[in-house]
Amino acid sequence: MKLYEYEGKLIFSKVGIPIPKGIVTEGRVVWNGKAVVKAQLLEGGRGKRGLVKVTDDVNKTIEEMRNSGIGKFLVEEVVEHTREIYMSIMMDRSSGEPMLVSSPQGGINVEEASDIKTLIIPIERGPRGYDIFTVEKYLRVKGLESVIKGLYKIVTEYDADLAEINPLAVTDRGVIALDSKVILDDNALFRHEELLKEIGRKEESDNYVELDGDIGIIGNGAGLTMATMDMVKLMGGMPADFLDVGGGADKERVKECVLKVGNNPKVKKILINIYGGITRCDQVAEGIISAYTDVKKPIFVRLVGTNEEEGWKMLEKVGIKFYQDVESAVGDVLR
Ligand code: GDP
Ligand code: MN
Repeated sequence: MKLYEYEGKLIFSKVGIPIPKGIVTEGRVVWNGKAVVKAQLLEGGRGKRGLVKVTDDVNKTIEEMRNSGIGKFLVEEVVEHTREIYMSIMMDRSSGEPMLVSSPQGGINVEEASDIKTLIIPIERGPRGYDIFTVEKYLRVKGLESVIKGLYKIVTEYDADLAEINPLAVTDRGVIALDSKVILDDNALFRHEELLKEIGRKEESDNYVELDGDIGIIGNGAGLTMATMDMVKLMGGMPADFLDVGGGADKERVKECVLKVGNNPKVKKILINIYGGITRCDQVAEGIISAYTDVKKPIFVRLVGTNEEEGWKMLEKVGIKFYQDVESAVGDVLR
């Protein structure tokens, strides 16, 4: 799950990475003088698209960006700086070890740049004094310990695939993270309800409760999800959770939910109960299928409503069991 810049910066401040003073807003703010207004979008490259603006009139700039369809903004103090650095820690999937990547050429989009100087250090047991010294020497800047340790903490304790600062500004009061890019491992989200609550991802946290049983429960709508849990209990099973995908869930949301429930080690089987209205059954099926290869646990789906036949066909193709009535689905889960 990719986080917004302001969400990533909240995590930065929790782990001791310095960030500019700022506020998140959807409309007008009270702010005196100069500021940087930054559109909160999940895509990068905002700088080039005019979506990061230094301005003397904050509310006017917000209004202009709102007119081009942006809904959320981060308003921050302008940080005077002499240089921009790139720094990240990412989980290397092949080795399963965190790698520290740094470059004196920050600010530019690293994925797009071809000829960029980087230093890559594997840090399997955490950054040692010597690693920090090496990076400081390479980048010609001091005082990187809290930044490097903070990034490492985000990757190891919060299960991030990537914790990136681009740019990290060099200022006369030390280094400050001007941007954040944090990608949390979808497969580990179920372990971080607290964090999701803290960064304000209500939809991800309010709709999920972990319980003691072994049957993973996913439904759409709190009422239907609770009724599903009750039926499982009535027929002798024990729910492992309550998870409501919410109204109009698309394939991404459904995938996230199935991964979350399926990756809980307590869950042996997954029961999904969807009554599609605004929610489209084909989207639901697509989401389930894309999570299925990762989860590798039996999934039973009761799926009716909008585009149900399309959804059924898709599930049938990959051999996921589907039902039109809840009783048969629950019966099969508990068999
Ligand atoms: P991205 O283009 O989406 O990655 O957005 P960034 O947050 O990285 O911003 C793009 C550029 O705007 C950065 O490379 C900086 O040069 C500049 N920038 C961002 N925040 C600030 C700030 O607080 N002060 C100043 N002076 N420049 C900033
Ligand atoms: Mn950036």
